[in-house]
Amino acid sequence: MRTETIQINGFNVKIHNYNTIVVGTGAAGLNAADRLFEYGQTDIAIVTENINAGTSRNTGSDKQTYYKLTLSGNRPDSVGEMAKTLFEGGCMDGDLAICEAASSTQCFYRLVEMGIPFPKNRYGEYIGYKTDHDPRNRATSAGPYTSKTMTECLEKSVRSKNIRIYDKLQCIRVLTNNQKSYGLMCISTNMVDPDERYVIFNCKNIVYATGGPAGIYSDVSYPAGHYGSSGLAFEAGVMGKNLTEWQYGLASIRPRWNVSGTYMQAIPKMISTDMQGGDGKEFLLEYFPDISVLLSKIFLKGYQWPFDIQKVNQGSSIIDILIYIETNIKKRRVFLDYRENPGNKPIDFAQLSQESREYLKAAGAECQTPIERLKHMNLPAYDFYKERGIDLEIKPLEIALCAQHNNGGLSVNSWWETNIEGFFAVGEVSGTHGVYRPGGTALNAGQVGSMRAAQYITERRTGTSVTTEVFLKKSLEMIKNTIMLGESCLSNENTVDALYKQATKRMSLYGGAIRDKDRINQVMKEVLKELKSFPASVKIDKIIDIKKVHRLYDTLICQFVYLSAMADYIEHGAHSRGSVLYTTPEGECPYEFLPETFKFKLDNGSRNNRIQEVRFQNNQCSFHWRNVRELKEEDYFFENVWRIYRENKSVY
Ligand SMILES: Cc1cc2nc3c(=O)[nH]c(=O)nc-3n(C[C@H](O)[C@H](O)[C@H](O)COP(=O)(O)OP(=O)(O)OC[C@H]3O[C@@H](n4cnc5c(N)ncnc54)[C@H](O)[C@@H]3O)c2cc1C
Repeated sequence: MRTETIQINGFNVKIHNYNTIVVGTGAAGLNAADRLFEYGQTDIAIVTENINAGTSRNTGSDKQTYYKLTLSGNRPDSVGEMAKTLFEGGCMDGDLAICEAASSTQCFYRLVEMGIPFPKNRYGEYIGYKTDHDPRNRATSAGPYTSKTMTECLEKSVRSKNIRIYDKLQCIRVLTNNQKSYGLMCISTNMVDPDERYVIFNCKNIVYATGGPAGIYSDVSYPAGHYGSSGLAFEAGVMGKNLTEWQYGLASIRPRWNVSGTYMQAIPKMISTDMQGGDGKEFLLEYFPDISVLLSKIFLKGYQWPFDIQKVNQGSSIIDILIYIETNIKKRRVFLDYRENPGNKPIDFAQLSQESREYLKAAGAECQTPIERLKHMNLPAYDFYKERGIDLEIKPLEIALCAQHNNGGLSVNSWWETNIEGFFAVGEVSGTHGVYRPGGTALNAGQVGSMRAAQYITERRTGTSVTTEVFLKKSLEMIKNTIMLGESCLSNENTVDALYKQATKRMSLYGGAIRDKDRINQVMKEVLKELKSFPASVKIDKIIDIKKVHRLYDTLICQFVYLSAMADYIEHGAHSRGSVLYTTPEGECPYEFLPETFKFKLDNGSRNNRIQEVRFQNNQCSFHWRNVRELKEEDYFFENVWRIYRENKSVY
């Protein structure tokens, strides 16, 4: 590692030189750094805006899931079969499916060795359970905080190797030139001293592990303080893939937490109020006069958690739509109230659907009130909110239809390198999933991708970064422009907070689970206008807020690219799939009570073998649709593979 200081735009700026910089300290970023060091590349460092931020560190669920190959029992499973499951999610590349299946055991056992308490039986079998879109029992869990425990163990391992962590540095520009990455520019999130404000990294490789782009939405179940930074990657020319594919579901707003599983199986009453909390009413009764139908749908929401367009009619996803209508169209607030049953009447359990009746009976939870059922079935779920100041026994819980996971993201090859040489994307920021994915595959993909990127860098991308002279030749202009962008917003008023709020609200309203062609085109125009007038309209009155200017810039680019992807998808005549309802006037409404504007057509799956890719340049997006990389039959003859392995260490 070499550091020097140079003057740029009147600021003294440090330039650190490394072989590889990892951006982000979630489960994926920490694993990338740990693996790089282990494989022999020690000229590395980690940059993070906050070591304790991010989704992995701060999120969970009643049973946070990790997906891997079956490791118990006597029912067969194989790499090929798991890859097939992943591939069948639709719009998934076959090579990535094989990689994620093949290395799932290696990554899982490493986490076990690091001390993550995945449960096993007395013979050492890691017992699994079935998760959504999983034909086997491949899922496992270390409890509600699986990913948090992963970050703690991985951080311990990283620290034991003395890998340098630059904390409180927000990356504000990815420095690329002619399809090649040269480094990063960062701003200190807590230093206002001009000579400490900007920090630059000149590095041969970047492992970008900034997580999902949560910051583009206002309604999210991602933890507070997590934004992601995909916009910066698009700005640098990195290609996006499957950006239309997200997972949305019901989550509490404060704190942000998915209300899946027992929170719904306890069958709470749902009320809506006006914005001030008055005029409370049980809005779902207007739609479901037959209370037993309503009770069963609320129950089902427990294990049909993500909004799924296939489950609007027969399943429980109509509940998500009705909540969206209350909050986004009627501008009301929605709460789960565990103090009383829906309809304020005792539940006749015999009237429930067979599934809910049998479940509640088996759980011994045929109690009188939702709170009794919740506490009986899952006391920790009740305690979770109590520990955060919300006693569900006394107070209702505010919820909304929220963005939870981006299945798409930055496009990568089978070594998680993007179209930009030396720029790798791992974890949720990379788009390695398609329309559907089994629950728990996000954490697995993050571990496998970061391991493979580290392998590739260690084998194929060794050596130092370019000289300072070359570095500045390739990136000085970008650095100067980026400094100017933030500094020119200094004024005596603040507009950045209101602009950010407005931009994210608008995105949740029109670019979330319910998408309408005209609205999307309208919002795209607005975002573009804001991008073009950026420095003129964005104002801050405190130097410490420059980071917010860069956050807003990143957010607007990201929103523009995502909205453009949605518009292009609709333009191609595609219809509703996955976690999204695309409105279509010639479509159908499965319920009479739904407004005409919610008519939709189900996508027939004919596009499941096509992938949409996008590039952003000069405030414009260009699209390219390609076939998925097929799930190929490999040569499994041992001597052949052994020979190639001896020559290439399997990195080819
Ligand atoms: C409520 C909820 C429940 C979930 N449940 C599951 C589950 O059961 N199973 C499963 O597999 N997945 C689940 N997921 C998804 C999974 O948790 C995430 O996909 C995963 O944790 C992402 O890890 P990551 O390392 O890619 O990113 P993160 O953990 O989000 O880390 C991103 C890091 O990047 C840093 N960063 C971002 N931008 C910058 C910047 N500009 N400069 C510097 N640093 C930056 C952040 O500070 C952070 O350290 C869930 C997600 C949510 C929200």
